[in-house]
Order: sequence, then structure tokens, then C-alpha cells
Amino acid sequence: MNVIENYKAVLLNIQKHCEEIKRNPDEIKLLAVSKTQPVTEIQKLYDFGVRDFGENKVQEMEEKAAVLPSDIRWHLIGSLQTNKVKYITGFVYLIHSADRTVLIDEIERCAAKSNRTISVLLQIRVASEETKHGCPPDEADQLLDYALSKKMITVSGCMTMASFTTDTNVLNREYQTFFKHIPKRIKDNPESIYSAGMTGDYLTAISNGANLVRVGTAIFGERHYT
Ligand SMILES: *Cc1c(COP(=O)(O)O)cnc(C)c1O
Repeated sequence: MNVIENYKAVLLNIQKHCEEIKRNPDEIKLLAVSKTQPVTEIQKLYDFGVRDFGENKVQEMEEKAAVLPSDIRWHLIGSLQTNKVKYITGFVYLIHSADRTVLIDEIERCAAKSNRTISVLLQIRVASEETKHGCPPDEADQLLDYALSKKMITVSGCMTMASFTTDTNVLNREYQTFFKHIPKRIKDNPESIYSAGMTGDYLTAISNGANLVRVGTAIFGERHYT
């Protein structure tokens, strides 16, 4: 398993796909999802030049950040419990999973304490599976209003997780729902981030408008759960 070769292969897939669908590949950010993977593998990618890594567990992200270079941009991509927010506001680069007002309150509180503005994505729920987090699509506007009322929070875009399926029709439908419900003020900002797509569906997500894809397995191989 060579993470650098895998990373390059994913980049190449993105590039070829962008040529086919007439999108500029430079618009697409590849986030290496390193959850459960050892720091040695992250370090290899870092040495190759990769700086953005995604984790879904607060404690794991903290432990890795403590031993890896300080210029890594850590993305928190998983569902976030309010009582864990305080552990990451000192160093997190982007929280992809802002999906409810109590969480936004807590991010604001901890951000003020850390004296750092925190960037977040509003996570919107489009999958029918009950386990998927996110705010209901028709409440995204309200959630944005709420987040914009906070001094220490910047809303950088939106995130979604589609159903775990290979059915392109289902994926397309869910991504269309996602993009349809992105608040106008986010769409109007050319810098906005649309975080969608994983190993199984990142090209489908890009076809639908994603500009940040979160890829773990295709880069690191199967996850090592302990
Ligand atoms: C694990 C995870 C990913 C990456 O999944 P792969 O299928 O391994 O690419 C992407 N997004 C979120 C929110 C995740 O938890």
C-alpha cells in the first residue's frame, strides 16, 4: 500500500473526470481522510506535500496533531458532540459538521475562549438513513442566519454525506437536493466550499458541483479499527 501513489491516482481520476465534464480541476480540493490510520502514513503524505487531513474523532485528531507538524490543516468531518468542541477549537482548521444551533453556540463559546475565529461548514442531511447527521435541507437558511449572528464563526460553505450506495441515480438525486438547498448567500460567494463525496462517489459528487472531496480508503486502504 503506497499512500503517495494512491493519492496521485485519485488526483489523476479527478483531473480526467474534470476534463470530461468541462470543469477546472484546480477548483477541486482533495481532503485525505486519515481516521484510524497511523501517523507514519500521514507523515509520508505530508512529506509529499499534502497539508489537509480529515478526522472524525476528536481525541484521535488531538493525539495526531500533537505529534505531527503544526502546519497541517486538520478538518473535523464527523458528527461532533458539544462537550468535545473545547478540545479542538485551539487548532482545528475547518469543522465540516456544524448542523445544529446548540453546537454552533458551543463553537462560538470555545472559539472566544481560544481567541480564534473558527470556520465551519453547515452540514445538510440528504440521505434517508437515520444515522446520517445534518440539518434538514429546508432549515439550512435558518441555520445560516444563526451561525452568521456569531462573532467568532465564519461559515465557509456546506457539507453533506450521501447514502452509502453505488446507485448513481440515488446519489445524483441526493446531491441535487443538497445543491438546491444551499443558501443563496453561500452560493453568491465564489470562495464557498462544497464538501461532498467519498471513495465510492467522489466523481459523482464532483459532477454535481462538489469542490472538496473527502477520500480515505482510496488513499490509505482499508481502515484499521482497533
Ligand atoms: C470516513 C469518512 C469519509 C471517507 O470515507 P472513504 O469511503 O474511506 O473515502 C468521508 N467523509 C466522512 C464524513 C467520513 O466519516
